[in-house]
Amino acid sequence: ANSQSSSAGPKSVTAFERATQLMPGGVNSPARAFGAVGGTPLFIERADGPYLFDIDGKRYIDYIGSWGPMILGHAHPEVIDAITEAAAKGTSYGAPTEAESRLAEQIIDAVPSIEKVRLVNSGTEATMSALRVARGATGRKKVIKFAGNYHGHVDSLLVAAGSAAATLGAPDSPGVTPGAAEDTLVLSYNDVAGLQNAFAEHGPDIAAVILEPVVGNMGCVVPTMAFLQAARDLTTQHGSILIFDEVMTGFRVAFGGAQERFGITPDMTTLGKIVGGGMPLGAYGGKAEIMNQVLPAGKVFQAGTLSGNPVAVAAGSATLRLLKEQPPYERLEQLADRLANGLDQAAASAGIPHTVAKAGAMLTLFFNGDPVTSWNEADRCDREAFGRYFWGLIGEGIYMPCSQFEALFFSQQHTEAMIDETIAAAENVLKSL
Ligand code: PMP
Repeated sequence: ANSQSSSAGPKSVTAFERATQLMPGGVNSPARAFGAVGGTPLFIERADGPYLFDIDGKRYIDYIGSWGPMILGHAHPEVIDAITEAAAKGTSYGAPTEAESRLAEQIIDAVPSIEKVRLVNSGTEATMSALRVARGATGRKKVIKFAGNYHGHVDSLLVAAGSAAATLGAPDSPGVTPGAAEDTLVLSYNDVAGLQNAFAEHGPDIAAVILEPVVGNMGCVVPTMAFLQAARDLTTQHGSILIFDEVMTGFRVAFGGAQERFGITPDMTTLGKIVGGGMPLGAYGGKAEIMNQVLPAGKVFQAGTLSGNPVAVAAGSATLRLLKEQPPYERLEQLADRLANGLDQAAASAGIPHTVAKAGAMLTLFFNGDPVTSWNEADRCDREAFGRYFWGLIGEGIYMPCSQFEALFFSQQHTEAMIDETIAAAENVLKSL
Protein backbone atom coordinates (compact mmCIF):
# COMPACT_ATOMS: atom_id res chain seq x y z
CA ALA A 1 0.00 0.00 0.00
CA ASN A 2 2.96 2.30 -0.50
CA SER A 3 2.63 4.64 -3.44
CA GLN A 4 6.34 5.44 -3.72
CA SER A 5 8.32 4.01 -6.60
CA SER A 6 11.63 2.22 -6.37
CA SER A 7 13.50 4.80 -8.41
CA ALA A 8 14.14 8.53 -8.50
CA GLY A 9 11.22 10.74 -9.57
CA PRO A 10 11.15 12.73 -12.86
CA LYS A 11 12.39 15.97 -11.28
CA SER A 12 15.44 14.24 -9.81
CA VAL A 13 16.13 12.62 -13.18
CA THR A 14 16.09 16.03 -14.92
CA ALA A 15 18.15 17.65 -12.17
CA PHE A 16 20.75 14.88 -12.37
CA GLU A 17 21.06 15.19 -16.16
CA ARG A 18 21.80 18.88 -15.75
CA ALA A 19 24.18 18.36 -12.83
CA THR A 20 26.10 15.75 -14.80
CA GLN A 21 26.92 18.39 -17.43
CA LEU A 22 28.26 20.71 -14.75
CA MET A 23 30.00 18.60 -12.11
CA PRO A 24 31.98 15.35 -12.40
CA GLY A 25 29.40 12.58 -12.08
CA GLY A 26 26.83 15.26 -11.23
CA VAL A 27 27.98 15.56 -7.61
CA ASN A 28 30.41 17.29 -5.28
CA SER A 29 31.30 14.11 -3.39
CA PRO A 30 31.21 10.64 -4.93
CA ALA A 31 29.29 8.55 -2.37
CA ARG A 32 26.06 10.44 -2.93
CA ALA A 33 25.93 9.64 -6.68
CA PHE A 34 24.41 6.18 -6.01
CA GLY A 35 27.21 4.66 -8.13
CA ALA A 36 27.20 1.33 -6.32
CA VAL A 37 23.45 0.75 -6.53
CA GLY A 38 22.91 2.20 -10.01
CA GLY A 39 20.22 4.67 -11.02
CA THR A 40 19.65 8.34 -10.35
CA PRO A 41 20.32 9.94 -6.97
CA LEU A 42 17.43 11.68 -5.26
CA PHE A 43 17.80 15.46 -5.26
CA ILE A 44 16.87 16.88 -1.89
CA GLU A 45 14.63 19.86 -1.32
CA ARG A 46 14.77 20.05 2.47
CA ALA A 47 15.09 18.05 5.67
CA ASP A 48 13.24 18.14 8.97
CA GLY A 49 13.89 16.06 12.10
CA PRO A 50 14.20 12.42 10.94
CA TYR A 51 12.96 13.14 7.41
CA LEU A 52 14.37 14.00 4.00
CA PHE A 53 12.12 15.45 1.29
CA ASP A 54 13.14 15.13 -2.36
CA ILE A 55 12.32 17.60 -5.14
CA ASP A 56 9.61 15.24 -6.41
CA GLY A 57 7.78 15.83 -3.13
CA LYS A 58 8.45 12.43 -1.55
CA ARG A 59 9.30 11.99 2.12
CA TYR A 60 11.85 9.50 3.43
CA ILE A 61 12.89 8.36 6.89
CA ASP A 62 16.54 9.38 6.75
CA TYR A 63 19.20 6.85 7.76
CA ILE A 64 22.24 8.76 6.62
CA GLY A 65 21.88 12.04 8.53
CA SER A 66 24.32 13.73 6.12
CA TRP A 67 26.64 10.72 6.68
CA GLY A 68 26.77 11.29 10.40
CA PRO A 69 26.48 14.90 11.55
CA MET A 70 22.73 15.19 12.16
CA ILE A 71 22.44 13.30 15.46
CA LEU A 72 19.98 15.91 16.82
CA GLY A 73 17.80 15.53 13.71
CA HIS A 74 17.64 17.95 10.80
CA ALA A 75 16.96 21.66 11.30
CA HIS A 76 16.95 21.47 15.09
CA PRO A 77 15.38 24.82 16.13
CA GLU A 78 18.10 25.72 18.65
CA VAL A 79 20.89 24.97 16.18
CA ILE A 80 19.16 26.98 13.47
CA ASP A 81 18.73 29.89 15.91
CA ALA A 82 22.44 29.76 16.80
CA ILE A 83 23.40 29.76 13.11
CA THR A 84 21.04 32.62 12.29
CA GLU A 85 22.23 34.74 15.21
CA ALA A 86 25.88 34.19 14.29
CA ALA A 87 25.35 34.83 10.57
CA ALA A 88 23.64 38.15 11.31
CA LYS A 89 26.86 39.34 12.96
CA GLY A 90 28.94 38.59 9.87
CA THR A 91 29.96 35.27 8.40
CA SER A 92 33.76 35.40 8.71
CA TYR A 93 36.35 37.68 10.31
CA GLY A 94 39.71 35.92 10.06
CA ALA A 95 40.34 37.04 13.64
CA PRO A 96 39.89 35.25 16.97
CA THR A 97 36.52 35.09 18.73
CA GLU A 98 35.41 34.04 22.21
CA ALA A 99 33.01 31.56 20.62
CA GLU A 100 36.01 29.54 19.37
CA SER A 101 37.29 29.17 22.92
CA ARG A 102 33.83 28.09 24.07
CA LEU A 103 33.72 25.32 21.46
CA ALA A 104 37.32 24.33 22.21
CA GLU A 105 36.39 24.05 25.89
CA GLN A 106 33.35 21.90 25.05
CA ILE A 107 35.52 19.55 22.96
CA ILE A 108 38.27 19.33 25.58
CA ASP A 109 35.68 18.69 28.27
CA ALA A 110 34.06 15.88 26.25
CA VAL A 111 36.94 13.99 24.61
CA PRO A 112 39.33 12.27 27.06
CA SER A 113 42.48 12.52 24.89
CA ILE A 114 42.13 16.19 23.96
CA GLU A 115 43.95 18.76 26.10
CA LYS A 116 44.39 21.26 23.26
CA VAL A 117 42.53 21.47 19.98
CA ARG A 118 42.67 23.17 16.55
CA LEU A 119 39.51 23.85 14.56
CA VAL A 120 39.62 23.19 10.81
CA ASN A 121 37.00 22.92 8.05
CA SER A 122 36.56 19.21 7.40
CA GLY A 123 37.48 15.73 8.56
CA THR A 124 40.01 15.50 5.75
CA GLU A 125 41.82 18.59 7.02
CA ALA A 126 41.77 17.17 10.54
CA THR A 127 43.45 13.87 9.59
CA MET A 128 45.90 15.51 7.19
CA SER A 129 46.98 17.94 9.90
CA ALA A 130 47.13 15.32 12.66
CA LEU A 131 49.49 13.20 10.53
CA ARG A 132 51.75 16.17 9.86
CA VAL A 133 51.89 16.98 13.57
CA ALA A 134 52.58 13.34 14.46
CA ARG A 135 55.43 13.23 11.95
CA GLY A 136 56.73 16.61 13.08
CA ALA A 137 56.57 15.67 16.76
CA THR A 138 58.30 12.29 16.33
CA GLY A 139 60.65 13.16 13.47
CA ARG A 140 59.59 9.85 11.88
CA LYS A 141 58.09 9.06 8.48
CA LYS A 142 55.93 5.95 8.49
CA VAL A 143 52.22 5.74 9.23
CA ILE A 144 50.14 2.63 9.77
CA LYS A 145 46.55 2.57 8.51
CA PHE A 146 44.06 -0.26 8.11
CA ALA A 147 42.45 -1.55 4.92
CA GLY A 148 38.87 -0.34 4.53
CA ASN A 149 39.34 2.55 6.96
CA TYR A 150 38.71 5.94 5.38
CA HIS A 151 40.34 9.11 6.66
CA GLY A 152 39.31 11.63 4.02
CA HIS A 153 41.06 12.31 0.74
CA VAL A 154 44.54 12.92 2.13
CA ASP A 155 47.09 11.68 -0.46
CA SER A 156 49.04 9.46 1.91
CA LEU A 157 45.85 7.91 3.32
CA LEU A 158 44.14 7.15 0.00
CA VAL A 159 45.65 3.70 0.12
CA ALA A 160 43.30 0.72 0.53
CA ALA A 161 40.71 3.34 1.50
CA GLY A 162 37.14 2.60 2.49
CA SER A 163 33.93 4.55 1.87
CA ALA A 164 33.27 5.66 -1.72
CA ALA A 165 36.85 4.72 -2.65
CA ALA A 166 36.02 1.08 -1.83
CA THR A 167 32.47 1.28 -3.17
CA LEU A 168 33.55 2.62 -6.55
CA GLY A 169 36.61 0.40 -6.92
CA ALA A 170 39.26 3.07 -6.40
CA PRO A 171 40.82 2.27 -3.03
CA ASP A 172 44.17 3.54 -4.39
CA SER A 173 43.49 6.72 -6.33
CA PRO A 174 45.27 7.75 -9.52
CA GLY A 175 47.03 11.03 -8.82
CA VAL A 176 48.54 9.81 -5.57
CA THR A 177 52.24 9.50 -6.33
CA PRO A 178 54.21 6.48 -5.13
CA GLY A 179 56.24 8.95 -3.07
CA ALA A 180 53.15 10.19 -1.24
CA ALA A 181 52.07 6.66 -0.39
CA GLU A 182 55.40 4.95 0.25
CA ASP A 183 55.48 5.73 3.95
CA THR A 184 51.99 4.33 4.50
CA LEU A 185 51.85 0.76 5.80
CA VAL A 186 48.47 -0.92 5.29
CA LEU A 187 47.43 -3.62 7.76
CA SER A 188 44.29 -5.64 8.34
CA TYR A 189 41.80 -4.29 10.91
CA ASN A 190 41.50 -6.30 14.13
CA ASP A 191 44.73 -8.19 13.28
CA VAL A 192 46.84 -7.99 16.46
CA ALA A 193 49.63 -10.21 15.10
CA GLY A 194 49.90 -8.06 11.97
CA LEU A 195 50.32 -4.97 14.11
CA GLN A 196 52.95 -6.66 16.30
CA ASN A 197 54.90 -7.75 13.22
CA ALA A 198 54.80 -4.28 11.69
CA PHE A 199 56.21 -2.77 14.89
CA ALA A 200 58.83 -5.51 15.15
CA GLU A 201 60.00 -4.67 11.65
CA HIS A 202 59.53 -0.87 11.44
CA GLY A 203 59.12 0.27 15.08
CA PRO A 204 61.69 3.09 15.15
CA ASP A 205 60.30 4.58 11.89
CA ILE A 206 56.62 4.59 12.81
CA ALA A 207 55.34 8.09 13.52
CA ALA A 208 51.71 7.14 13.98
CA VAL A 209 48.98 4.55 13.86
CA ILE A 210 45.68 5.99 12.61
CA LEU A 211 42.45 4.03 12.88
CA GLU A 212 38.68 4.32 13.03
CA PRO A 213 37.91 3.10 16.58
CA VAL A 214 34.61 1.79 15.21
CA VAL A 215 34.82 1.57 11.44
CA GLY A 216 31.98 3.21 9.52
CA ASN A 217 33.60 3.23 6.11
CA MET A 218 33.56 -0.46 5.17
CA GLY A 219 30.12 -0.74 6.68
CA CYS A 220 30.05 -0.77 10.46
CA VAL A 221 32.89 -2.93 11.80
CA VAL A 222 33.45 -3.16 15.54
CA PRO A 223 36.98 -3.44 16.98
CA THR A 224 37.97 -6.12 19.46
CA MET A 225 39.24 -4.77 22.77
CA ALA A 226 42.43 -6.79 22.19
CA PHE A 227 43.03 -4.89 18.94
CA LEU A 228 42.53 -1.43 20.45
CA GLN A 229 44.64 -2.38 23.47
CA ALA A 230 47.44 -3.68 21.23
CA ALA A 231 47.40 -0.44 19.23
CA ARG A 232 47.62 1.51 22.50
CA ASP A 233 50.40 -0.64 24.00
CA LEU A 234 52.57 -0.95 20.87
CA THR A 235 52.51 2.78 20.09
CA THR A 236 53.43 3.55 23.70
CA GLN A 237 56.27 1.01 23.72
CA HIS A 238 57.70 2.31 20.44
CA GLY A 239 57.23 6.04 21.00
CA SER A 240 54.67 6.33 18.18
CA ILE A 241 51.53 8.44 18.28
CA LEU A 242 48.14 6.71 18.38
CA ILE A 243 45.52 8.68 16.44
CA PHE A 244 41.84 7.80 16.76
CA ASP A 245 39.96 9.11 13.75
CA GLU A 246 36.67 9.90 15.47
CA VAL A 247 35.23 11.96 12.62
CA MET A 248 32.31 9.51 12.54
CA THR A 249 32.32 8.10 16.06
CA GLY A 250 32.94 11.34 17.99
CA PHE A 251 29.81 12.43 19.90
CA ARG A 252 27.99 9.45 18.31
CA VAL A 253 28.96 6.12 19.90
CA ALA A 254 29.24 8.05 23.20
CA PHE A 255 29.49 11.77 23.97
CA GLY A 256 33.26 11.39 24.37
CA GLY A 257 33.45 9.13 21.30
CA ALA A 258 34.76 5.58 21.00
CA GLN A 259 37.62 6.40 23.39
CA GLU A 260 35.05 6.99 26.14
CA ARG A 261 32.98 3.96 25.11
CA PHE A 262 35.97 1.58 25.17
CA GLY A 263 38.06 3.30 27.85
CA ILE A 264 41.16 3.53 25.66
CA THR A 265 42.74 6.96 25.30
CA PRO A 266 44.77 7.75 22.16
CA ASP A 267 47.42 10.49 21.94
CA MET A 268 45.56 12.43 19.25
CA THR A 269 41.98 12.53 17.99
CA THR A 270 40.42 13.83 14.79
CA LEU A 271 36.83 15.07 14.70
CA GLY A 272 34.33 16.22 12.07
CA LYS A 273 30.64 15.74 11.30
CA ILE A 274 28.74 16.15 14.64
CA VAL A 275 31.30 18.62 16.03
CA GLY A 276 30.15 21.07 13.34
CA GLY A 277 26.42 20.47 13.78
CA GLY A 278 25.96 20.08 10.02
CA MET A 279 28.25 22.98 9.06
CA PRO A 280 31.76 22.54 7.56
CA LEU A 281 33.92 22.12 10.65
CA GLY A 282 36.50 19.59 11.79
CA ALA A 283 38.99 19.51 14.64
CA TYR A 284 42.14 17.76 15.72
CA GLY A 285 43.59 17.67 19.18
CA GLY A 286 45.49 15.68 21.74
CA LYS A 287 48.05 15.93 24.47
CA ALA A 288 49.15 19.52 25.07
CA GLU A 289 52.82 18.64 24.49
CA ILE A 290 51.94 17.32 21.02
CA MET A 291 49.55 20.14 20.08
CA ASN A 292 52.11 22.71 21.21
CA GLN A 293 54.16 21.64 18.16
CA VAL A 294 51.63 23.49 15.95
CA LEU A 295 52.51 26.97 14.65
CA PRO A 296 52.65 29.57 16.19
CA ALA A 297 53.19 27.67 19.48
CA GLY A 298 55.61 25.36 17.65
CA LYS A 299 56.95 24.86 14.14
CA VAL A 300 54.51 22.49 12.39
CA PHE A 301 52.57 24.54 9.85
CA GLN A 302 48.79 24.36 9.59
CA ALA A 303 46.38 27.21 8.79
CA GLY A 304 42.96 28.10 7.34
CA THR A 305 41.24 31.28 6.12
CA LEU A 306 37.87 30.03 7.32
CA SER A 307 39.07 27.97 10.31
CA GLY A 308 37.02 28.73 13.42
CA ASN A 309 34.33 30.20 11.18
CA PRO A 310 31.77 31.89 13.45
CA VAL A 311 28.69 30.36 11.80
CA ALA A 312 30.13 26.81 11.86
CA VAL A 313 31.35 27.29 15.43
CA ALA A 314 27.87 28.43 16.51
CA ALA A 315 26.28 25.31 15.01
CA GLY A 316 28.85 23.01 16.58
CA SER A 317 28.69 24.68 19.95
CA ALA A 318 24.88 24.54 20.11
CA THR A 319 24.96 20.87 19.08
CA LEU A 320 27.48 19.86 21.73
CA ARG A 321 25.62 21.86 24.38
CA LEU A 322 22.34 20.09 23.57
CA LEU A 323 24.02 16.66 23.52
CA LYS A 324 25.56 17.33 26.92
CA GLU A 325 22.39 18.76 28.50
CA GLN A 326 20.14 15.95 27.33
CA PRO A 327 22.29 12.99 26.33
CA PRO A 328 20.40 10.88 23.78
CA TYR A 329 22.88 8.02 23.91
CA GLU A 330 20.99 5.50 26.03
CA ARG A 331 17.89 5.87 23.92
CA LEU A 332 19.89 5.71 20.67
CA GLU A 333 21.43 2.48 21.92
CA GLN A 334 17.99 1.00 22.56
CA LEU A 335 16.75 2.06 19.14
CA ALA A 336 19.88 0.56 17.56
CA ASP A 337 19.25 -2.76 19.35
CA ARG A 338 15.65 -2.73 18.15
CA LEU A 339 16.68 -2.01 14.55
CA ALA A 340 19.56 -4.51 14.59
CA ASN A 341 17.35 -7.31 15.95
CA GLY A 342 14.54 -6.48 13.55
CA LEU A 343 16.78 -6.46 10.47
CA ASP A 344 18.50 -9.62 11.64
CA GLN A 345 15.18 -11.45 12.00
CA ALA A 346 13.84 -10.07 8.72
CA ALA A 347 16.90 -11.29 6.82
CA ALA A 348 16.83 -14.64 8.64
CA SER A 349 13.18 -15.30 7.83
CA ALA A 350 13.86 -14.39 4.19
CA GLY A 351 16.68 -16.96 4.21
CA ILE A 352 19.34 -14.40 3.28
CA PRO A 353 22.93 -14.96 4.47
CA HIS A 354 23.69 -11.88 6.54
CA THR A 355 25.30 -10.42 9.60
CA VAL A 356 24.45 -7.24 11.51
CA ALA A 357 27.09 -5.08 13.17
CA LYS A 358 26.46 -2.05 15.34
CA ALA A 359 27.88 0.37 17.88
CA GLY A 360 25.46 2.97 19.19
CA ALA A 361 23.48 4.72 16.48
CA MET A 362 25.76 3.32 13.77
CA LEU A 363 24.81 0.04 12.11
CA THR A 364 25.15 -2.17 9.01
CA LEU A 365 23.25 -5.15 7.63
CA PHE A 366 25.94 -7.01 5.68
CA PHE A 367 24.88 -9.37 2.90
CA ASN A 368 27.49 -11.83 4.12
CA GLY A 369 26.84 -14.90 6.24
CA ASP A 370 30.06 -14.57 8.24
CA PRO A 371 30.94 -11.95 10.84
CA VAL A 372 32.71 -8.97 9.29
CA THR A 373 35.85 -8.05 11.24
CA SER A 374 38.02 -6.58 8.49
CA TRP A 375 38.00 -5.57 4.83
CA ASN A 376 38.65 -9.22 3.84
CA GLU A 377 35.13 -10.19 4.86
CA ALA A 378 33.43 -6.89 4.00
CA ASP A 379 34.71 -7.30 0.44
CA ARG A 380 32.94 -10.67 0.13
CA CYS A 381 29.43 -9.22 0.59
CA ASP A 382 26.75 -9.67 -2.04
CA ARG A 383 26.77 -6.14 -3.50
CA GLU A 384 24.06 -6.96 -6.02
CA ALA A 385 21.60 -8.07 -3.32
CA PHE A 386 22.45 -4.93 -1.40
CA GLY A 387 21.54 -2.78 -4.42
CA ARG A 388 18.10 -4.39 -4.72
CA TYR A 389 17.58 -4.00 -0.96
CA PHE A 390 18.51 -0.31 -1.19
CA TRP A 391 16.08 0.48 -4.03
CA GLY A 392 13.34 -1.62 -2.46
CA LEU A 393 13.60 0.48 0.69
CA ILE A 394 13.54 3.71 -1.33
CA GLY A 395 10.22 2.44 -2.67
CA GLU A 396 9.04 2.09 0.92
CA GLY A 397 10.05 5.66 1.82
CA ILE A 398 13.25 4.69 3.60
CA TYR A 399 16.56 6.31 2.71
CA MET A 400 19.48 4.05 3.64
CA PRO A 401 23.13 4.64 2.71
CA CYS A 402 23.56 3.79 -0.97
CA SER A 403 26.49 1.44 -0.39
CA GLN A 404 27.21 -1.73 1.51
CA PHE A 405 30.38 0.00 2.69
CA GLU A 406 28.75 2.80 4.66
CA ALA A 407 27.17 2.55 8.08
CA LEU A 408 23.64 3.80 8.59
CA PHE A 409 23.06 6.62 11.08
CA PHE A 410 19.94 7.80 12.81
CA SER A 411 19.05 10.68 15.10
CA GLN A 412 17.36 11.41 18.39
CA GLN A 413 14.28 12.42 16.37
CA HIS A 414 13.77 8.84 15.18
CA THR A 415 11.06 7.01 17.13
CA GLU A 416 10.33 3.38 17.94
CA ALA A 417 7.41 3.57 15.52
CA MET A 418 9.76 4.68 12.72
CA ILE A 419 12.20 1.89 13.54
CA ASP A 420 9.31 -0.61 13.43
CA GLU A 421 8.10 0.82 10.13
CA THR A 422 11.64 0.42 8.79
CA ILE A 423 11.83 -3.20 9.95
CA ALA A 424 8.44 -4.00 8.37
CA ALA A 425 9.59 -2.41 5.10
CA ALA A 426 12.87 -4.34 5.20
CA GLU A 427 10.90 -7.57 5.76
CA ASN A 428 8.87 -6.91 2.61
CA VAL A 429 11.91 -6.03 0.57
CA LEU A 430 14.11 -8.88 1.79
CA LYS A 431 11.36 -11.45 1.12
CA SER A 432 11.17 -10.33 -2.51
CA LEU A 433 14.94 -10.35 -3.13
N1 PMP B 1 37.54 10.25 8.70
C1 PMP B 1 36.45 9.48 8.79
C2 PMP B 1 36.43 8.35 9.77
C3 PMP B 1 35.34 9.74 7.98
O1 PMP B 1 34.25 8.97 8.08
C4 PMP B 1 35.39 10.83 7.06
C5 PMP B 1 34.24 11.17 6.16
N2 PMP B 1 33.25 10.26 6.00
C6 PMP B 1 36.56 11.59 7.02
C7 PMP B 1 37.61 11.28 7.85
C8 PMP B 1 36.67 12.76 6.10
O2 PMP B 1 35.85 13.80 6.52
P1 PMP B 1 35.38 14.91 5.49
O3 PMP B 1 34.47 14.22 4.52
O4 PMP B 1 34.68 15.91 6.35
O5 PMP B 1 36.59 15.46 4.84
